[in-house]
Amino acid sequence: MKLNPYDILFEPVKIGPVTAPNRFYQVPHCTGQGHLRPRADAAVRKMKAEGGWGVVCNQETEIHPTSDLTPFPESRLWDEKDIPALRLMTEAVHEHGSLAGIELVHNGNHAANLLSRAPAFAPSDMSVDVLYPKQARAMDKTDIRNLRRWHRDAARRSKEAGFDIIYVYAGHRMTLPQHFLLPDMNDRSDEYGGSLENRVRLIRELIEETKEEVGDSCAVAFRFAVEELMGVGGMQGQEEGRAVVEMLAELPDLWDVNVSDWANDSATTRFEPKDGFQIEHINFVKELTTKPVVGTGRITSPDMMVNLVNKGVLDLIGAARPSIADPFLPNKIKEGRIDEIRECIGCNICVSSDNHGVPIRCTQNPTMGEEWRRKWHPEKIETKGAAEAALVVGAGPAGLECAMQLARRGYEVTIAEARDAAGGRAKLESELLGLRAWKRVSDNRLYDLQQRGNVNLYLESDLSADDVAELDIPNVFIATGAKWRADGIGRSTRSATKRDLNMPVFTPDDIMDQTELPDGPIVIYDDEQIYIAGVIAQQLAAAGHDVHFATPAAIVSPWTEMTLEQDRIQRALITAGVGIHTGRSLAEITANGCRLDCVYGGVETRVPCGAVVLVTERTRQTDLYDDLLKRGTLAHLELIGDAASPGLIADAVFDGHRAARGFEGDPAEQDAAYFRRELVSLNNTVEADQ
Ligand code: ADP
Ligand code: SF4
Repeated sequence: MKLNPYDILFEPVKIGPVTAPNRFYQVPHCTGQGHLRPRADAAVRKMKAEGGWGVVCNQETEIHPTSDLTPFPESRLWDEKDIPALRLMTEAVHEHGSLAGIELVHNGNHAANLLSRAPAFAPSDMSVDVLYPKQARAMDKTDIRNLRRWHRDAARRSKEAGFDIIYVYAGHRMTLPQHFLLPDMNDRSDEYGGSLENRVRLIRELIEETKEEVGDSCAVAFRFAVEELMGVGGMQGQEEGRAVVEMLAELPDLWDVNVSDWANDSATTRFEPKDGFQIEHINFVKELTTKPVVGTGRITSPDMMVNLVNKGVLDLIGAARPSIADPFLPNKIKEGRIDEIRECIGCNICVSSDNHGVPIRCTQNPTMGEEWRRKWHPEKIETKGAAEAALVVGAGPAGLECAMQLARRGYEVTIAEARDAAGGRAKLESELLGLRAWKRVSDNRLYDLQQRGNVNLYLESDLSADDVAELDIPNVFIATGAKWRADGIGRSTRSATKRDLNMPVFTPDDIMDQTELPDGPIVIYDDEQIYIAGVIAQQLAAAGHDVHFATPAAIVSPWTEMTLEQDRIQRALITAGVGIHTGRSLAEITANGCRLDCVYGGVETRVPCGAVVLVTERTRQTDLYDDLLKRGTLAHLELIGDAASPGLIADAVFDGHRAARGFEGDPAEQDAAYFRRELVSLNNTVEADQ
């Protein structure tokens, strides 16, 4: 029998009183569903278990109204009434033989308690760390005793809800146990402050008490950020991080170690291109404890996983994003289907949904977050209906995803692409500085399409309506994308910018087509305010251009706060010597520069330059669709992706997927853009609510 080189990944691992069936461990991660959408949340976790993850954890779970993260829907275990919703998850995960973990949390000054209106807590008096006019109070001894009691109660309730692994959580600069540990947040003079022994006291008590309460049948995990990447003044892995691991080495049943804060832990490929980027920070932990260790950092390569286990760095392969991009990653490794793994591209669109307080979505996996409400399965799709063939025009993310799913359903699929390479914006953007991993979006789909006998891809085929008629395929999906405007119309102005034609003007499409720019300074005007203008500024500066970045926004690329990148982007531009002009709208492009107006009125600035790059809005490319619609000869004609509604690559992939699933489906469901909702129940009696 041929040995699977990855067998070691499928060995069981004992964690305290429980045993994980293999080494694949989905560490806690948010889904934007939490206590508001418990059925949808349970379905996300169930899919991971079905896909082979031996341990599946939930997300941070508030243990008390003094840790109220409203408006963000994390999990909640304030009292007994929250148990049934959490039990949905444990039952779903157990159905597939996996262990269920719960990440208990008290968020200290990270929770503003907007719903509960409770006071906020911290080791010492300080502001809450969200922008809200409230200060956390230094916890007195009664507060600390209460906290320990709430944690103990939550542990007992977790066990009752069916969880196998229960967390004490000190990470991401978001939790009280970590706040007590950090000298810059703890200036207490009692037995909980001062020496490391004292600052670690609360953590020790919480782990001991959780073990006392539930340790007979549940494992107690300690999630600990060993390193803050702040240098002196923050937790440093080789200093206090190591000392904490030494002090508590055998106390928890499992060490779940990472770096802090969230932006460091969930770093994007743009700023941390290396898969497994956290390993160098956490690799000392295992030599200090006999307890199993789990770590993360976008570990997607099975060879790297085996290596980490063999080298004694990790016992369990932790993953949040790789498990979102491909819930079936473990099963694919087990079945030798390595090439089919949909690798995470490190774009943090998943993170952005949590930051928006909406259900999770993923660029690579359009079914993520749709398991319950649309009943989508990442690996299964309904077989085809009565039609035989379909034509997809445009091989960008929307077209490729649509074609792939149609082919999976069994249709004969023809894809036509005007360019000499497939991939559309996923390919083009991936050639920009820092975005190389984004090519995985098209690579994964092209690989899949190439494996199929029912797909024909034609490159350099810019189709007209006559061409489509000649092909004689009655079902057509138009995924012709969108092009950047060059007239200045954007988020903050609805009229074209006054312009002297002697000044050359470019758009992101020109930059992606590698158009040569003239000498002299370049003004990039960003009235889109998402990510691409910042990427272009960084790239042009790296290529030696003198770059000025102007935007009506108050900061560079403001939306990238959602992907945890904004401060890194602004820092990168400052470091690269880019001139930054925030709060400025583009009033006029003159023969020798740009005239900028202060958005708050008054001051005018002139920036001399030799070229302008406008990043404002996109125009949908619908000529072909409009022609075909006019002719009215096709059985099915559908506009998808950016051509239907310009957005993120994730949105285009989603729309391609939706269209392919919906083809020949129930029209009633399509009319309603159908999905199930978790409605507030009005069935509770007044007594039951008390
Ligand atoms: P989306 O994000 O919706 O997938 P993209 O802009 O990434 O959109 O991709 C659209 C693709 O469609 C591009 O690769 C473009 O070259 C191609 N395209 C546009 N018009 C036509 C056409 N008439 N025939 C074939 N391909 C086209
Ligand atoms: Fe990875 Fe992006 Fe998907 Fe998040 S959204 S899991 S970062 S591919």
